[in-house]
Amino acid sequence: MTSSSSDRPGEFELIRELFAPLSKSAPGAFGLTDDAALISVSSDEELVVTVDALIEGVHFLPDDPPHTIAKKSLRVNLSDLAAKGAEPKAYLLALALPERPDRQWLRAFARGLAEDQKEFRVSLIGGDTTRTPGPLTIAITAFGAVPCGTMIRRKGAKSGDLVFVSGTIGDAGMGLDFAEVDTSRDLTIEAEALIERYRCPTPRVRLGLALRGLASAALDVSDGLIADLDHIAEVSAVRIEVDADRIPISRALMDIGGDSVELRTDAATSGDDYEIAFTAPPAKRDEILSVARKTKTQVTEIGRVMKGAGAVLLNEDGHEIPLAKKGFTHF
Ligand code: ADP
Ligand code: MG
Repeated sequence: MTSSSSDRPGEFELIRELFAPLSKSAPGAFGLTDDAALISVSSDEELVVTVDALIEGVHFLPDDPPHTIAKKSLRVNLSDLAAKGAEPKAYLLALALPERPDRQWLRAFARGLAEDQKEFRVSLIGGDTTRTPGPLTIAITAFGAVPCGTMIRRKGAKSGDLVFVSGTIGDAGMGLDFAEVDTSRDLTIEAEALIERYRCPTPRVRLGLALRGLASAALDVSDGLIADLDHIAEVSAVRIEVDADRIPISRALMDIGGDSVELRTDAATSGDDYEIAFTAPPAKRDEILSVARKTKTQVTEIGRVMKGAGAVLLNEDGHEIPLAKKGFTHF
């Protein structure tokens, strides 16, 4: 714990050299020299808290670059905050490393975090560093803020509402297929773009903030569009219909997979999109399209909320497409 050689820093050296600099803009982090950190919030705000753990071999691949592993770990949490309309403030980093850490790897990891801290205006305020007999695990707990009572819930979708999604769907799912095969061979630009979407998602933070007061329900799409909309349907006690032909598909995905009901079904049931799916009353449509433009985020209307239960995918004739699975599950 205290000994160190030049390429494999010890626990405290690691914290001091690589992580403490990431906390310097947060006075309540005390330079990572105390047992706990302070987060200040004003009395008219609430803290929004979320945690996601990323495990090697499950959420990223062993050969993924360390800076994208770092970014993904932070971004999946920022995506949860975005879906709740919360402004990111700070995060905790729990690292479980399978062996004594490699300095080069950790430097690149910390660089990825530093870049994203700048981009998303968020600060490291603490964490934990341990050794594990299992695979590399990175758990980040993120804190955001909302004016009291304005967090966007999964519950709240009403029959008659419209369904929207940000960005494009299915890129990361196909990207993972490519990344798992062999990234050393020559890949097309399109395949590289899809792998990048798997390794480094884009949390829709600005859009999420703008959706406060507009969206009736929202969540981030991590396990698959239909599986996740199923969660909104369940807690809101409604049925959600998604039109397969309206799901936004990227040019890269279409160039590789063509455009077919099969491709759209795969896209709507594969994971790692980290887009925001949300519902809103039809009277808010124009305002939603306007905040989409203002935040420079693609937003597409893809379906409707009805009386009933469950999320379903419809073909162009309005018939339900039978799904072998609605999305990714761990068990
Ligand atoms: P404890 O003895 O309570 O486990 P530690 O020695 O683990 O405390 O941590 C010392 C300080 O370093 C604390 O402020 C903690 O938040 C911080 N810290 C430890 N690991 C990390 C990490 N991976 N990222 C950020 N901060 C960390
Ligand atoms: Mg500790």
